[in-house]
Amino acid sequence: MVRAPKGTPAWTIEELLAQRAQWIYHHQNKVLDRCRRVAEARSTFPLSLPLLGVEYPVVYAHGPGGVREGIVYLPPCRTAPDVAKALEQLYRAQAKEYLPGRTLRLAEKYQLYPTRIQINGARGRWGSCSGKNSLNFSWRLMLADVSAVDYVICHELAHIKHHNHSQSFWQLVGEMRPDYQASQNHLKELEQSLFYQSWCSEPLNSKG
Ligand SMILES: [Zn+2]
Repeated sequence: MVRAPKGTPAWTIEELLAQRAQWIYHHQNKVLDRCRRVAEARSTFPLSLPLLGVEYPVVYAHGPGGVREGIVYLPPCRTAPDVAKALEQLYRAQAKEYLPGRTLRLAEKYQLYPTRIQINGARGRWGSCSGKNSLNFSWRLMLADVSAVDYVICHELAHIKHHNHSQSFWQLVGEMRPDYQASQNHLKELEQSLFYQSWCSEPLNSKG
């Protein structure tokens, strides 16, 4: 649709459109590009998934789900809630397999021992430490890379010594993970990308 003052001769409009055609074409392409990117990211059925910083191709098939030989197997899904459920099961299983063992290893290394390690579905935080030094990690942490996962684990272990975010706390975190700011940035980017996933539509934040 073209808006023009009443009485504008048609040839003026056509000439103007011809002049602007290239700009309009360019602009349309830019908008289409952006729509395509958002649609791809929001796709109900992801074609690949990140796990500990590695992107795995996804195959939807009958049979046992899980990760085998570099491929993520998901059950056949029909709707977005089906996908969300299958992904939560997949990441929860992976989190239970990986996070407690990794946490105990780092606990040994830094001599900071949690009383309990649990996996939860927290959206608001990647990990937390209770007053009784029980650690909780969100299964969503499995979407991050290994270095960022180690940072979150060390962050929570550091809370065993300092139950606050004081200068001494950050000093300890810095001794454990000298590059922790890069991990914080990675987690922030991950939060933003998760915002566009239909199966994980609520953003996380790196608190805790
Ligand atoms: Zn904290």
